Amino acid sequence: MMKKPAVKKDMTYTIDLTTIDGDGAFPCPKCGVIISPDDETEETYTIVETKVKNDELAELILMCNNCRSKIRLIGFLSQPKES
Ligand SMILES: [Zn+2]
Repeated sequence: MMKKPAVKKDMTYTIDLTTIDGDGAFPCPKCGVIISPDDETEETYTIVETKVKNDELAELILMCNNCRSKIRLIGFLSQPKES
């Protein structure tokens, strides 16, 4: 009998930017490398997919260049609530 590896290849982590303080940088959920969405050099991550809604960035899917995890960023559209 063959043993199958338990780790899924397409594991995707989700980061909600509204829960992040500061400039939006966050550690990779798997390897802990700091990923900054403002870093356009793409040294620590590669942009896999961007989803735009009403001309605004709604969702970003990145791949960590260190551990190759896919990370889904949500929460770009943080509309202030009217009180
Ligand atoms: Zn990583």
